[in-house]
Amino acid sequence: EAKTSGGGALHVYKPELSERVDNRFAMEAMMKMGLAEGQFHAYFQAKRDLKTGRIAGAEALCRWMHPDKGMISPADFIPVAEETGLILQIGNQMLAQACDMAVRCNGPGRPRFVVAVNVSPKQLLHGGFLCDVRRVLEDSGCRAQWLELEITESLLLADLEETVELLEALAEMGLMITIDDFGTGYSAMSYLSRFPIKCLKIDQSFVRDMAQDPEKQILVRAILAMAQGLGLKTVAEGVEDAAAAALLSELDCDYGQGYLWHRPVPAHNFYQLLAASRVA
Ligand code: C2E
Ligand code: MG
Ligand code: MG
Ligand code: MG
Repeated sequence: EAKTSGGGALHVYKPELSERVDNRFAMEAMMKMGLAEGQFHAYFQAKRDLKTGRIAGAEALCRWMHPDKGMISPADFIPVAEETGLILQIGNQMLAQACDMAVRCNGPGRPRFVVAVNVSPKQLLHGGFLCDVRRVLEDSGCRAQWLELEITESLLLADLEETVELLEALAEMGLMITIDDFGTGYSAMSYLSRFPIKCLKIDQSFVRDMAQDPEKQILVRAILAMAQGLGLKTVAEGVEDAAAAALLSELDCDYGQGYLWHRPVPAHNFYQLLAASRVA
């Protein structure tokens, strides 16, 4: 085995590394097949209106149903999908499934129902995103107002003119733009006024045990006060206990999402759950 320390000239792969590389290629091939065979499914998790208790929307979360390996979670394949560019195809399939759900859940005499999709920076900035969104809306009959994009702070920190223009075009079409995992990045507050952001989604690491942790509670309060001052909507993700839910309502957080109410479920289960909640 070669030395890797010092300004050494010799580079020999360690067995673990070459194994990892093989795995990556195997994973890529497996993903391509999975895409062709429709193995990527959107699960839906309810977003609850904390004032009315109604289900106001959902977040689409990608699940890979592999015939032999079972369900593979996004943490295990999204990074590889981003590296290989396959995130574009996965992203478009997710957009299409989210739009289909939005079309089913909206209708005359019903309150507006918004479906959120997670969008990775690579997907957003590949050059064809605006066209992809337009096409998916047109094909599904989904209105732009029924679709929400969850993006991460890292995308905004780069502060490219290109990003501003793209997000403005999407916001003008009527899509809602939300910052996901808010508070975990750099939170350079200045970008909030530069981008057409409508909503902050407070990261679950602050929310999960906020009722038992005074410091987390202080951070959540501060984020909510800031968002409310700026006229932004707020979502708390990772609500797992009633004490956190009660605090969040007290602090006028708009929406909550978490295992306390609903886990992510397949499309048909979600639709049943929503229908049942509307009758009740
Ligand atoms: P995220 O967008 O921040 O989604 C929230 C994650 O927290 C989801 O994990 C959800 O299942 C989980 N969660 C929701 N409520 C609770 C709770 O009360 N307690 C706990 N402990 N967890 C909760 P999931 O589905 O494994 O997704 C992980 C991440 O993968 C997502 O984080 C998102 O960043 C990414 N992801 C998922 N689907 C997609 C997709 O279609 N495209 C892209 N680009 N990324 C995706
Ligand atoms: Mg999200
Ligand atoms: Mg999140
Ligand atoms: Mg997260």
